[in-house]
Amino acid sequence: MRFSKLVDYLARLDKTSKRLEMTAILGALFKEASEEDVAPIIYLTQERLGPAFEPIDFGIGEALAAEALALATGKDKTEIKKLYKERGDYGIVAEELCGASSNRLTVKQVYDRLMQIATTSGTGTVAQKTLGIGDPTVMEGLSWSKTGDKSLRPQIERAYNVCSDLGQVAQLFKAGGVEALAKIKVTVGKPVRMALAERAKSAEDIVTRLGMCAIEKKFDGFRCQVHKQSEQVRIFSRNLEETTTMFPDIAKAVRDQVKAKTAILEGEALAYDVETAEFHPFQVTMQRKRKYDLEAMTAKFPLRLVAFDLLYVEGKDFTGQPYSKRHDMLAELVGQGDGLSVADHLVTQDAKEIEKYFDDAVTLGLEGILAKRLDSKYQAGARNFNWIKLKRSYQGQLTDTVDGVVVGYLRGRGMRARFGIGAVLVAVYDQPNDRFVTIGKIGTGFSDEKWPQLRELLDKVAVEHKPARVDAVMLPDVWVEPKYVIEMRADEITRSPIHTAGKVGDEPGYALRFPRVIGFIRVDKKPEDATTVKEILGMFKKQGKKKTA
Ligand code: AMP
Repeated sequence: MRFSKLVDYLARLDKTSKRLEMTAILGALFKEASEEDVAPIIYLTQERLGPAFEPIDFGIGEALAAEALALATGKDKTEIKKLYKERGDYGIVAEELCGASSNRLTVKQVYDRLMQIATTSGTGTVAQKTLGIGDPTVMEGLSWSKTGDKSLRPQIERAYNVCSDLGQVAQLFKAGGVEALAKIKVTVGKPVRMALAERAKSAEDIVTRLGMCAIEKKFDGFRCQVHKQSEQVRIFSRNLEETTTMFPDIAKAVRDQVKAKTAILEGEALAYDVETAEFHPFQVTMQRKRKYDLEAMTAKFPLRLVAFDLLYVEGKDFTGQPYSKRHDMLAELVGQGDGLSVADHLVTQDAKEIEKYFDDAVTLGLEGILAKRLDSKYQAGARNFNWIKLKRSYQGQLTDTVDGVVVGYLRGRGMRARFGIGAVLVAVYDQPNDRFVTIGKIGTGFSDEKWPQLRELLDKVAVEHKPARVDAVMLPDVWVEPKYVIEMRADEITRSPIHTAGKVGDEPGYALRFPRVIGFIRVDKKPEDATTVKEILGMFKKQGKKKTA
């Protein structure tokens, strides 16, 4: 496919904010793409050059757009950026330039060249997806390309959950349809999209849902999916970025203690004090997230991985095995040592026993517990009641925290005027529609040092108009691309006409009452990992019940 053709499609996508239209345009694009082109096209529409776990993205979307256009048109990058400033839209710039130029570059040529630049200049190593089209829309677009509807999304999603690479999924799908997708298997070295937990409101609630189940402590650290292939160990974070170089101690512990040649296991990494045999608080663990002084930090605060799941061992996929079998096998596989242990569990159907286990966990300074269905498979990429979390509650506040995405900010008044930022507009994720809907304006919880840092980060992703995937009634002074996730606590969830979370027709939406941020930006979460509208509705319902009880 000619690159100018792809640009045409991208310009059309840019002009619509209707999900169905986007899906149909993507469907047509994927249909027209050749087998060879479809993977690069998917990466480019998501503003990457490969799957999320390969760190070869360009910095930000804009840099990529300018670079790609410069290549495709032979025009100077500064000229392109200047045009962009005037027109305010890369789609329009691309149309003008590609229309005028006689350039015959293909998608593949542009992609290969971008890849070459990214891998030799080393610019894109810490990049994150910023703009781009969300995974759900791409998956539905793929389904459309064959059937004209979204009916094949479940099969496409299953394949994506297993290999985390939409480019690979698309290529196989193009070549061999859903039959080819069924052949995608768990592979060492390719992260599996992680299973997630639903929430419960009490121990009783857990017993009602699961009956006999396994109760584990909920450790608050970094989720790690560890892939071992002989002496080679790779570690992936919750959002599937590779973190191997940050956690050399975990890699070593896995090499030393896992008694298998190939394995994929999952656990939570926490800073551990060997002297006192206790975990450090979360704030200490978080310091290991730094990318500098690695050696000193590793020596000062060694991590321990508490493993809680096993996905693969010695060539065998374990994701289809029941929890109890995976846990037994995991316990067999892990030998003695300081850097790696297996999460203990209690198998019970007694709410009183669960409460006691929960209290013990809280006394140890942990966040709470997770209950696991004994006969459940490892459900890649899914949040359901196979895993249920029960978190410590904070009096007078919502039991759970909410992860929101910053979509804009308001200029400061009074004391904060000097920062030029006084509050952020925060959204949650409307998953079925792949959109971000606002839930509150939040100005509490950031320290005076953090405000300028926040402003600097947000200004880098500021945009002139409301981003296409954002729905809002309340308007900020500055819009930003949905990129940064913050964790918030609030007193409760209320109905509100000025927020769009859960808003249907003329009904009011839902909002956080007295929200305050905890910590700073959650670097381990992507915008799509934010709390969903569905979860907010669940939390709203639960709080209602609590009041009448
Ligand atoms: P949350 O981030 O609040 O949705 O809680 C789910 C997270 O708890 C998982 O993604 C894990 O990182 C973490 N976690 C801690 N302990 C466990 C455990 N025993 N089993 C599963 N997840 C755990």
